Amino acid sequence: MCKKLKLRGFLFCLVLSLWMGVCPKLYGQLTVHFIDVGQADAILVESDGENMLIDGGNGADSSLIYAYLKNHGIATLKYIVNTHPHEDHVGGLPGALNYATVERGFSSHQDYNSQAFRDYKGYLAMQGLELEVLEAGSSLSLGESYIQVLGPLEYDGDINNSSLVLHLVYDQVSFLFTGDMEEGSEYDLLEAGLVPDCTVLKVAHHGSDSSSSYRFLRSALPEFAVISVGKNNSYDHPSPKVLSRLEDAGTQIFRTDVHGHVLAHSDGKTVEFSVSRNGSGSTVSGKEVSASVSPQKNSSAQGGSKATPKEAITVTYILNTNSKKYHLPSCHSASRIKEANKKEFSGSRQEVQELNYQPCGICKP
Ligand SMILES: [Zn+2]
Ligand SMILES: [Zn+2]
Repeated sequence: MCKKLKLRGFLFCLVLSLWMGVCPKLYGQLTVHFIDVGQADAILVESDGENMLIDGGNGADSSLIYAYLKNHGIATLKYIVNTHPHEDHVGGLPGALNYATVERGFSSHQDYNSQAFRDYKGYLAMQGLELEVLEAGSSLSLGESYIQVLGPLEYDGDINNSSLVLHLVYDQVSFLFTGDMEEGSEYDLLEAGLVPDCTVLKVAHHGSDSSSSYRFLRSALPEFAVISVGKNNSYDHPSPKVLSRLEDAGTQIFRTDVHGHVLAHSDGKTVEFSVSRNGSGSTVSGKEVSASVSPQKNSSAQGGSKATPKEAITVTYILNTNSKKYHLPSCHSASRIKEANKKEFSGSRQEVQELNYQPCGICKP
């Protein structure tokens, strides 16, 4: 090879490696909509132009799902994932299939003896699709998101424990979608070492006490949790015990019964939340009004705005610039913060709260 060609080859490699070094993978925008469907689940994921719907609420939510997709310009869904055949998860999916063109439709079961489940299969068939059973260990891609199917690992006959458990990873943030899995499935995942650290947890089974065990939360350590739950529901969900376990884990909680639709937006580094409400009835109003909201906290934890002596003392805090929580330097969850999101701050409690940081629920700074 002549010298000139060698030099060219060398320069090409140099430019390529420099470009790869300074141009990491580009992450666009991920939006996860926890749609307020009352005592049910419906989650729309938009990742870099590709969309997925996880569950669709009850049959009565069909028109809401149809309108929600329409109002957000979601005409195609790469995937519909029905976590398990219960009506509050499968019932409204025909609304999505009536509006959007779908590539693949999944569930945890191939057959289930209910009209709602048969309707889901029927509407898939109208688009020429066969229902596919999604198995643990498989994975899906959605835009720049990578989705691992973690569970169910075993089926013990409890339909809730057959829920598909999805872990969506988007660069440095991740979402854990749990359907209605109960403690039994949580333990199966824990035993298998398959409970990942997550940024946002979709709280299992509408905040029922039979899910979200301490062991599970200690492993998942979510910074944020979203509970999809109906106002004044007959199950008394979410359980106060679950709320307290989440607070002990230092997790900030959003609830569809309190906040309406809860939207998580991410660039792959941080997650921001906005909320919006339906107009009355089941249709989605034309334009959403987004607002930054404070996560739900114990009312006792939120005093008035007046400074107390504790507020005024200068202390060193460790900030998590991603979750917007502040910790005492001795807090064990502070030691787990990624270096990129960690910041030291010296000042008063009032000053750190004025920067919109919330106290960690573990060290209660
Ligand atoms: Zn269920
Ligand atoms: Zn459910």
